[in-house]
Amino acid sequence: MGSILLKDITIADERKDVFIDKGRIVRIRPEGSCVEWDIAGDCEVMDCSGKVAIPGFINMHTHAGMSLMRGIGEDMLFHEWLDKIWKIEAGFDYDYVYWAAKVACVEMIRTGTTTFNDQYWYFQACQKAAAEMGIRPAVGYDIMDRNDPEEALRQMDQCQQKYEEACDLWNKEGAIYELAFHAIYSVSEPMMIWAADFARKHDLPLHIHLSETRKEVEDCKAAHGGLSPVEYLDSIGVLGPNLLAAHCLWISDHDIELLARHGVHCIHNINSNAKLSSGYHFRYEDMHAAGVNICIGTDGCASSNNLDLLEAMKTSALFQKAWTGNPKALPLNELLDMATINGAKALRLDSGRLEEGALADISIVETDSSYFLSRAPFLANLVYSAHSDCIDSVIANGRFVMRNREIPDEKEVLHEARQALSKIKTA
Ligand SMILES: [Zn+2]
Repeated sequence: MGSILLKDITIADERKDVFIDKGRIVRIRPEGSCVEWDIAGDCEVMDCSGKVAIPGFINMHTHAGMSLMRGIGEDMLFHEWLDKIWKIEAGFDYDYVYWAAKVACVEMIRTGTTTFNDQYWYFQACQKAAAEMGIRPAVGYDIMDRNDPEEALRQMDQCQQKYEEACDLWNKEGAIYELAFHAIYSVSEPMMIWAADFARKHDLPLHIHLSETRKEVEDCKAAHGGLSPVEYLDSIGVLGPNLLAAHCLWISDHDIELLARHGVHCIHNINSNAKLSSGYHFRYEDMHAAGVNICIGTDGCASSNNLDLLEAMKTSALFQKAWTGNPKALPLNELLDMATINGAKALRLDSGRLEEGALADISIVETDSSYFLSRAPFLANLVYSAHSDCIDSVIANGRFVMRNREIPDEKEVLHEARQALSKIKTA
């Protein structure tokens, strides 16, 4: 792996030279320092005058294999939408998911994401796609037994086998192996308990959907003596600091207390929630005040339509300010943390920060446009004024995955994905 020198790049309003080697940020020093550095061997140099570096985004809830399903379930209620999606997904195979995941990676790279936390079928296809595109996935076996005891046994066996096959190798490649189960309404209680034990025993993150809709909460209360989904998972021992819970939209004060006490990481997905009319009263301020680590995701393209985390950041902030009636809700620095360092914390990853020693996951923003032509702080214009096409170059794991908006193999990926899509029935 060669090294990279970013000359004259702005970080937190200061002009710096940055040296990257062996996947890490080695030096960040005042601009001009690099003339004194002894940089031997294969070093890629980029003049970054006028450009700003930010940490690569961490999209904490995706279904990369859904990237070719955008727009096929518009104007539908969540449960109708889910039934339609599940019927279509029954026709998918490894090849389809692989090319769909590659398209997802292209889109995430273009919009500044360097790590994503995925949940989908044929998870090894997603891992392979991400490794080839150069970004880091957190992905692993996805459990959904639909309350069928025979299917549960089959999935337990598969889960054990896939873990043994993949885990060690993936960790060496920088991918994060995790376990996922879909949701409390699609997975049996014994299976959820088994999955939580398996994840704890092997020290894996456990990625789930939780309290996404009002119906999920009402059905759970009816089935489990008045317990909310969060209380129910607490009662069967699933909550813990390895739990990555997407949505957490319909939650009570007691739920927040439980999430905070168990160190659960919660992932906000506003575009998907708003689109499916699941709700928008995400209790960011109450959760933040309680000490819950809050991250941000897009969800899959079948509901959010794209994987643009910058767009999700803007929508999240707008909704928070609108529904709380408080313009100070979800300030810019906390919004950036949600998209970067909070995700790194949830995945126990040394990323999400531009500091010497951290993993070199960096987006380079072009500020030579009308969107940045003001005296406002950079972050204000990045989130509220610009669009993600301001992202000029992206470094993930110490390698350029996009340089001057060029992504190697992008055309081939789109071509092959078209072929894969033509073989699938989507309606
Ligand atoms: Zn989801």
